[in-house]
This record gives sequence, structure tokens and C-alpha cells, in this order.
Amino acid sequence: MRLHTAGSARGFRKPIVARITTEPIPASERKDAALVLPSLDGRADDVRGYAAVIVKQEVNGRPFSAPLLHSVRDIDHLISGHIVALEPANGFIRTLFRPESRHNTLFATERCNSNCLMCSQPPVDKDDIAALTERNLKLIDLIAPAPEYLCITGGEPTLLEERLLTIVAKLRDTMPETYVHMLTNGRRFAWADFTSRFAAIRHPNLSLGIPLYADDAALHDYIVQARDAFDQTVLGLHQLARHGVEIEIRVVLHALTIPRLTHLAEYICRNLTFVDHVAFMGMEHIGYAPRNMNELWIDPVDYQEQLESSVAVLARFGIDARIYNLQLCLLKRSLWKYSKQSISDWKNAYAGVCHDCAVKEQCGGFFHWNTKVQSRGIQPIATSAV
Ligand code: SF4
Repeated sequence: MRLHTAGSARGFRKPIVARITTEPIPASERKDAALVLPSLDGRADDVRGYAAVIVKQEVNGRPFSAPLLHSVRDIDHLISGHIVALEPANGFIRTLFRPESRHNTLFATERCNSNCLMCSQPPVDKDDIAALTERNLKLIDLIAPAPEYLCITGGEPTLLEERLLTIVAKLRDTMPETYVHMLTNGRRFAWADFTSRFAAIRHPNLSLGIPLYADDAALHDYIVQARDAFDQTVLGLHQLARHGVEIEIRVVLHALTIPRLTHLAEYICRNLTFVDHVAFMGMEHIGYAPRNMNELWIDPVDYQEQLESSVAVLARFGIDARIYNLQLCLLKRSLWKYSKQSISDWKNAYAGVCHDCAVKEQCGGFFHWNTKVQSRGIQPIATSAV
């Protein structure tokens, strides 16, 4: 699935966020629209008022009455109703929102105050917060109708500080029915003042996905490569609970988390009883993970007992468990009922062997970058009976 393309930018200096139209529209509706055309033939005089015009053909020399991206590599994926960001510096066209998808995100920042060994999107230390906030606020303005789900992700969204509060308040005001899930390391919520201001927004449909990798502070801090992260995250979880914020605990499964997985489940049951559910997540082989495979790799077929007993511990205490990013053929049948199809549509793929599998429809498949790193347990299943 293509979500990026590029061309040559002309006639604008600031990024533009606009809704795609592939057909000409009345002048009164053009302010926030980007018109996509294969060529300008016969149309050059009728582009006034569009936020931008995107053309596959090369357009040289002649003056133009709207911001222009020409010589664009691919335009077939630019569909009416999608929302894109256009970058003047490099001619990038990035698809930000697809109304038909359940996996739309607001990307908050590339920065992070942790540096996890298996981070799928390693942090970049650049000052992008103001620009991305402006982009996200404009994106929220353009989204219509409101989607069922929206994710806020990064980097670490809480690094936005006040700007995060502005975004969440705007989501509350413009699309209160939309279920917003924010992925955060939770550390910033250790500060009571920030947490109470965040909770005071009272978004009616919001949950936070917060990782906790061990019941042992030193091990958690080592995995996230940040001193005191465990203490801050646990304190943050309690502050959030005090304000009634819905919380999902996220545990990435790898060779460092598996040995204490059952202890972590017990820790959650004794100390974090307020969490809504715990998500056990197969590791993505992208970002830092491929570089740290010596330390992180464990074949999922080799941790099924630990996973099963951790789920059982949670169940005993009435805490819901979910399993993300793990293929059904790797899971014990007793765990199938906890498996969720969690991989975003634009990242999702199946291996060649899946073609003959009876449970392909129920199986979440792979991140497309994970099809190269396969467990020895991947094999088609002959019957869908549990
Ligand atoms: S063979 Fe493919 S579709 Fe079948 S369970 Fe395994 S990963 Fe899923």
C-alpha cells in the first residue's frame, strides 16, 4: 500500500494539508482541496482557489495560479477524500488520513525520552513538535466524517506538553465519538500536575497504551534504556488511575521479557489492578530490533508456556488479556481466543504458506517486514476447529 510519493514543488513555502479531489470542484469548496490531475492539458486556467494542484506531468516555465507539485512519481493512490501533507522542501506527498481505514494516526513527534532496544521507530532528535502539531490540528479540522478510531503515536506524544493537551481537547470538541488510543511510555504522567491537566480535558472516549516490560525496575530500565523509567511509568499509571483514565498495559515479547513474564503478570494483578487489559505483543523486526537480535530473539514457539501461564494469572484476577502481532499457527490453541487482528492494514502481509491455511481469515498475519524473519512454527493449519 503506497502512502508516500514525491514531485517537484513550486509556489509554496509552508507545508500544506489538504483533502484530495480527483475531479474539479466548485470554487467555493476549493480552499482545503488538492486537485490531482494526470496532466494540465486544457485545465491550467481553471485551478484558482485550490490549496494545491498535484500533477503527474512535468510543468515547466509558465506561471501558475496555485501551489503546485508536478512531475509526481505516482498519483494512482491519491484518492478523493484522502488527506495529504505536501512538503515544499522536498516535494513529499504523505497520505495522513484514509476515511476507509481503521488505522489512522496522528503522528505527534519523532522525539522520545526513552530508547527501547526493540523500538520499531527509533527516535530522531529533531525539533519537529511545532510543525507536526500545526499539521495535526489542521488534519483534525479536515477529517469528516469522524472516524470510529484514531491513534496518537510518535515518538513520545507527551513531549508535546501543552500542545498535546490542545490536540486532545480539539479531538474532544470536534469528534467526541471517535475512540482515541494514545501510545505513550507513560513517564510524563509521574508528574501530578501534568496528569491532572491531561485528565481535566475529560475526553469521553480515550485510552492510553503504556508499556511495562518487567516487574523488575532495573530490567525495565535496561530494556527502555532510560534510568528511573520504571518508577516514573508505575507512578504515572497510578496517577492516571486516580483520575479514571482507561489504561492498556503493553508487553513486547522477546528474550529479555519472557523469563519474568509470569512475575510481571503477578505484579500487575497485585499493584495495577485498575488496568483495563494487558496486551502481549509479538516483536516487530524493524527499527532497532534487527540490530539487537542477539539479545532479543526468541522463537515464539519457545515461549508459549510462559505466555499461557501469564494469561492464566491475569484471568484469575479478572484482568483481560489480548495477544497482538502473533500468528495463530504459533499460538497454543488455548490462546487463540485472546488473539486480535492488530496489524495496521498498510503494514499487513501473509507468507506464501498462508495461502493454504484454513484459518487465514482469522489470523492477523505478519508485519510485511516480519515475513523475512520467520519462526520455525509457521505452517498452514488444516482445520479451523479449536
Ligand atoms: S499459516 Fe499463515 S495464515 Fe495460517 S496461521 Fe500461520 S501465519 Fe496465520
